Amino acid sequence: MKRLDPPRWARLHDRIPRRRAVKASLHRDLYRLRGRVLDLTLHRDRHLQIDLGFVQNPLFERYGTASNWTFGLAVTDRALIFQFRIPQAQPVVAESAGVDLNMPSADLATSDGHTWSVDLRPITAVQGAMARKRAAIARHISKDLRHQRAVLRRYRRRERNRVRPLLHAAGNELLRQVGARNVVFEDLSSTSEECQKLTRRGDPDARRRLSAWTHGELQRIVRYKSTTAVVRANARGTSSECPNCGGPLAHPSWRRATCGHCQGDWHRDRAAALVILGRGHHLLRGAAPPPSARNELLEAARWRPDDDRSPGLVGEPMKRDDAKASGQG
Ligand SMILES: [Zn+2]
Repeated sequence: MKRLDPPRWARLHDRIPRRRAVKASLHRDLYRLRGRVLDLTLHRDRHLQIDLGFVQNPLFERYGTASNWTFGLAVTDRALIFQFRIPQAQPVVAESAGVDLNMPSADLATSDGHTWSVDLRPITAVQGAMARKRAAIARHISKDLRHQRAVLRRYRRRERNRVRPLLHAAGNELLRQVGARNVVFEDLSSTSEECQKLTRRGDPDARRRLSAWTHGELQRIVRYKSTTAVVRANARGTSSECPNCGGPLAHPSWRRATCGHCQGDWHRDRAAALVILGRGHHLLRGAAPPPSARNELLEAARWRPDDDRSPGLVGEPMKRDDAKASGQG
């Protein structure tokens, strides 16, 4: 009807009560737990008592006991949400792993001298396919912009639903390689703000925004799965700082970085992982890596002739032989 009879649709639309997502966190003074009875203050002299004795979920009891029944409470239109605060002793570990997130891969460098990379190409493949699909939709529904927006929103949601399980798999793989080390990420908050500003101005470069969401989500997943500390280091200039001498880097080609100061010749992403590791390790007050580990890391970050052929950008078709060639970065 929206399309066939717009005036009638608008009339009805105004009359139908619209359901909005309601969610509010309650102030600590507004609720109290006495035994198993939750006492909620709705108004100055209106109280609501809910007996929680009937709650069947075994986790409720477990989290409650573990948190000594200190919790935050949020209300939605259909549920009470308990947020238990469980104090967690974080094991103090000496070693850290720096992670540089890029589109085709996540590169790791650890303070004890190991380097790895996690393949993110299954994710970029989905995102590339969906980006092409969205472009086709925009072409097909080019007249009715409201309809176009609605369809695009649906596809964006669909894309996120497909990407999320892949991100969980990548996060698990990342944590498996990190092992019992702290994790250092780049702080993406400033970069994503910049991206939002760009997209608000109508910048068509949606790829940056995509990667900001993907990387933010991956960081969030790793942060809640990790048993060790996860810190975020300043992201400014991580890919233009020499991992050896700290001098400025030049980028003669897409993934290559050279230092005019110490004549270092690096793979941009692996060098960035080293810089991130250095910054985070500093934050964590870790001891400086021993010279042998440092040399191994620098050796691993060095530019190799076959790096040029490693796959890159979003939306590039995946090739079998590429996947084999760059299993370990
Ligand atoms: Zn240098």
